[in-house]
Amino acid sequence: MKRSSSSFVVGFAEREAALLAPYAMPSAKSAGRKYPEPEHPYRAPFQRDRDRIVHSAAYRRLSHKTQVFTGELGDYHRTRLTHTLEVASVARTLARALRLNEDLAEALALLHDIGHPPFGHAGEEMLGECLAPHGGFDHNRQALRIVEELEQRYPGFPGLNLSQEVLDGQAYRARKHTSPDSPLLEVQVVEAADSVAYDTHDADDALQIGLLGFEELLDVPLWKEAVRRVESRWMQLKPDQLRRSVIHELIDWQVSDLLTGATQRLAEGQVDSIDAVLSRQILIHPGHEMAEKKVELERFLFDRVYRHPQVLAVRRHAQDQLQEMFGEFSARPELMPPHFLALCEHAGVARSVGDYLAGMSDRFAQQQFQQLCRRRRGAAAH
Ligand code: MG
Repeated sequence: MKRSSSSFVVGFAEREAALLAPYAMPSAKSAGRKYPEPEHPYRAPFQRDRDRIVHSAAYRRLSHKTQVFTGELGDYHRTRLTHTLEVASVARTLARALRLNEDLAEALALLHDIGHPPFGHAGEEMLGECLAPHGGFDHNRQALRIVEELEQRYPGFPGLNLSQEVLDGQAYRARKHTSPDSPLLEVQVVEAADSVAYDTHDADDALQIGLLGFEELLDVPLWKEAVRRVESRWMQLKPDQLRRSVIHELIDWQVSDLLTGATQRLAEGQVDSIDAVLSRQILIHPGHEMAEKKVELERFLFDRVYRHPQVLAVRRHAQDQLQEMFGEFSARPELMPPHFLALCEHAGVARSVGDYLAGMSDRFAQQQFQQLCRRRRGAAAH
């Protein structure tokens, strides 16, 4: 691929050549885009991908989508957007420290949850049920559908026309990691960063909301050790200060563990090219001890937080609403906006209704549900 000469002091190709490790993915080796486009004079291809994701409607709607807790439970906790930003932050730290392509890691991180429907995994389960006879629903696959087809923002092509490596990275998630080949290290970094972020912030949110008490978490070895580390540096912190410091410690500890392990594996395995990355086992993952501790924390969070009666009640309510809307819009697709009605022609009614519902924010879904109820009451009164 010929680089355009420009008046910019250091072009992105030169910058990448100077900074990236031999096992990182440089833009120069990208397989390109489905619809060929001229290169941008000063933005690298993966940087452009990142920008396109940030400017998409689906990305903006993440600000009003549930991560674990819905808006009824307060305004402190993470939304799908702030979770995404935390993942991107950790992924960039890892990518920079390992001399990987930060632009690619960031694009993948910002994309990774873009396909989530309203109401988090509760919404996903319900859409999966509704769409079971039509190929099911999976947020990772939906992310690809959004960026390849549903977003209509550019005159020259459907979707965002992202670089192949971004699509492949997301496809790896959609295949549930069953691929015989390992993905690029930039993809591995995002997988690891996602886990660092949610393990940590779900505990933080549950404490702040009051679903958990600080003492209860001391049963979890990872948490207990993080508290011990903080208290060895800071004596007599107030409860809120202690909680926040423990969260920072947990992130730092996990990221350090990932970096130590990855550096060692890269050196021992003499990984010196992208081909070597693809043919090896996953290289970026928590060490054995950390992995065990994370499993214990995740088990605890599953039992005590994700299955908390308050969370379950909200889940059921959200699922009932989605199910009803799915039935209603399937029977009356003309109630959907024209774009989704037109989509029915080639995607079928069920898939188009699924796309419409999946794109909704929590708030918009609730408004739509109320509107459908009013419409139904009005029809019954006549
Ligand atoms: Mg995530």
